[in-house]
Amino acid sequence: MDINVIAPELPVIYGDDKPQANLEKGCVRIPIDIFGSAFFMLTRYEEVIKNDRDEHDRFPAWASLAYQEKFLERPIVDEYVELLWSVIKQLWPHAERKQRIASIRVSHDVDRPSRYTFGTFRRFVRSVAGDIVKRRQFSSIIWGAQARYGTPHCLHPNDPFNTFEWLMDVSDKNNMRSAFYFIAGKTYPPHDPLYNLDDPAIRKLIRDIGKRGHEVGLHPSYNTYQNPELLARQAAYLRRVAAEEGVEQIVWGGRMHYLQWRTEVTPNAWERAGMAYDSTLGFADYAGFRSGTSHDYRWFDLRARRELILIERPLIAMEATVISKKYMGVADPELAIEYFQMLGERCQRFGGSFSMLWHNSELYDNKNRELYQKIVEKF
Ligand SMILES: [Zn+2]
Repeated sequence: MDINVIAPELPVIYGDDKPQANLEKGCVRIPIDIFGSAFFMLTRYEEVIKNDRDEHDRFPAWASLAYQEKFLERPIVDEYVELLWSVIKQLWPHAERKQRIASIRVSHDVDRPSRYTFGTFRRFVRSVAGDIVKRRQFSSIIWGAQARYGTPHCLHPNDPFNTFEWLMDVSDKNNMRSAFYFIAGKTYPPHDPLYNLDDPAIRKLIRDIGKRGHEVGLHPSYNTYQNPELLARQAAYLRRVAAEEGVEQIVWGGRMHYLQWRTEVTPNAWERAGMAYDSTLGFADYAGFRSGTSHDYRWFDLRARRELILIERPLIAMEATVISKKYMGVADPELAIEYFQMLGERCQRFGGSFSMLWHNSELYDNKNRELYQKIVEKF
C-alpha cells in the first residue's frame, strides 16, 4: 500500500505494536487507534496530566511523548490521516477528498521594537556599550542617541531592531503576509517588553503595518496565560489602538509571550477575549509538531468537554529554538537552513502550514537576514 508518510514505521500512541493494515473479507482493520491518538496529541492531554514545567512554567519538549519517542519532528496526526485515507481509498476507490494547499506563515513577536528607544537610560548605555565592545560599532553612540532622542514619532531607520519595513518587503516579494504580535500591557517587568502601545512610534508602526496590508496581533504579556480577564483587557486595548490608527481586520489572533501556555486555561482565555486564533503551540526548547499536526484546528476544551470556536495554529519553529545555544544550538547557518527547510517540506507534504516565528530583533545583521530570506524563498 502506498501511504504518504514521513517514514514507513509509524509511531503508535494507542494501538498494537506492529501496525499492519489487513484486508480481510472486504474490511480493513487498522491496528492504530487513530482517533484516540489524534485526540491525545491535538488536545495536549499529556500537558494536563504531567507536572513537568520549566523556569517559565512551560511544559518542556523533553517531557512530551513525541520527544521521548522521537517523533516530535513528524506531523504524526497528519500521517495517521494519510493512513486512514489510504484504507478508505482501498475500500472505496472512487472516494475524493478536498485538496489542501500548503502555505508558509511568518509571524513576529514584537518584544523589542527598538534597540535604544525604550526603557531606562541605564539600559540604553548598556546597549550602546554592548555594540562597541562586542561588535566594534563605535557609530552606535550617534545612531543610538539619534534613535532614542531624535525621532520620538517613529522608530529610527538606523535602529538595528527596526526591521519591520524589511520584513514586510520580504513578505510582499514572497506572497506572504507577516503577522506582528504586540504587547499591550505589563504584568511582570523583568520579562515584559519596555514599550507602550500608546508610544507615538509604536502607534505609527501599527498604522504602517495596517496600511501595507500585513497583520497586527496580540502578544499577551508575561503571566497572562493564567489570567483570562487580563488577556481580554489587553486584547481590547490593542484593538482600540489599532482602530484609532485605521487598522481594520476581520481576523484577530496572536501568540503568548515566552510561549507560556496552560492547556486548561489559555485557549479559553483567547476565546473569551474574542480572538479567532492562537499560535502558541510549539515548544520553546525543541522545534517540530507539538500538537502532531501542520494544520490549523478547532480547539477542544478538555474540562468543559466541548469544542471552542478558537482555532489553534501550531507554531512549527521559532528562530531561537533552532539557533540559540540555550536550545537546539544549530549554529552553522547552512545546517540551520537545512533544518528549517526539512520542517517546511514536512508541512508542505501534507498541505499544511509551515508557521515560523522570527523576532524583528533577530535580524540585525546580514547573516541572519540571509538565513531568513533563504528559508522563506525556498518554500
Ligand atoms: Zn515575546
